[in-house]
Amino acid sequence: MNLDDLPIRDDLRGKSPYGAPQIEVPVLLNTNENPYPPSKSLVDDLAEEVRRTAGGLNRYPDRDALELRADLADFLGHGLRAEQVWAANGSNEVLQQILQAFGGHGRTALGFEPSYSMHPIITGGTSTEWVDGLREDDFTLDAARAVAAVERHRPDIVFLTSPNNPTGTALPLETIRRVLAAAPGMVVVDEAYAEFRREGVPSALSLLPEHPRLIVTRTMSKAFAMAGTRLGYLAAHPAVVEALLLVRLPYHLSTLTQTAARVALRHREELLGTVDALRRSRDETVTWLRAQGLTVADSDANFVLFGRFPDRRAVWEKLLERGVLIREVGPPEWLRVSIGTDEEMAAFRAALEGVL
Ligand SMILES: *Cc1c(COP(=O)(O)O)cnc(C)c1O
Repeated sequence: MNLDDLPIRDDLRGKSPYGAPQIEVPVLLNTNENPYPPSKSLVDDLAEEVRRTAGGLNRYPDRDALELRADLADFLGHGLRAEQVWAANGSNEVLQQILQAFGGHGRTALGFEPSYSMHPIITGGTSTEWVDGLREDDFTLDAARAVAAVERHRPDIVFLTSPNNPTGTALPLETIRRVLAAAPGMVVVDEAYAEFRREGVPSALSLLPEHPRLIVTRTMSKAFAMAGTRLGYLAAHPAVVEALLLVRLPYHLSTLTQTAARVALRHREELLGTVDALRRSRDETVTWLRAQGLTVADSDANFVLFGRFPDRRAVWEKLLERGVLIREVGPPEWLRVSIGTDEEMAAFRAALEGVL
């Protein structure tokens, strides 16, 4: 028997699962993780906290993760309170809960591709219709065209990703404001890479007080160097959080996850201490790739999209042969490299020089 013989939903037939390759190679620059592992003192603190909470694992976790949400609100600042923050197993689960509460059969979500591949996948998984509003050739979003797409499709949910994955493009607040003014439903600004944005680039968190239908999502998977913990979160109006309580599974966030996330927040200075170096390395990578005569998208994130390669698969494979895994993603002819340690970036440059 194979998949096609099963009585799965018609709208799932022929689809492919999310699939960034997980391959064992020396230099992993393909899923935008922070390359620096936690220090021994963080690991020791985490182990101690897990030991303390392990004695209570016969009981369900705090269903509403109140202490963690208070810690996250405090971390985000902007005067946010715990009732305005929600957390789940990665921001992908947060996004899925948003789709479950505000999307669904007969409803529509609008995004602007090329963007994060999981937005349409989660949209489809919740039987919501996906509409692509498209970007300009330089991957920016023209505010007037974005507003026109909103007015044409009247979506229940709009996805704005800033900085955008896989292009690295951040959005001006004015574009977000104009989309909010036009949108009949919820507007999600996915800020998975917010901590990496360049000086002077704003966060949509500052728009929350005036916009009750705005949701800003964040994650500990990228800058926060905790991808293995699976902790994503959002900030929104307290009524939005109440809506998500209707669809979340009871006890969705394990005691161990809540513990690990709170320990990580206590060590925020260490964990975010590598962000400045990664941003510098990102800017150097952009400069270096341009010096090789390549086309490179401006980036406010911890990755760089570059091209253009008529046969990008061949370039990707030749880098892999040299022990460097990057990502074949985004528009045809482009490749994306995550920013690793200085040693990893030197290996990437050497391998790419060899390929070119
Ligand atoms: C990586 C990423 C996420 C995050 O995922 P987690 O589930 O929190 O690991 C969300 N949005 C974008 C745009 C991303 O690139």
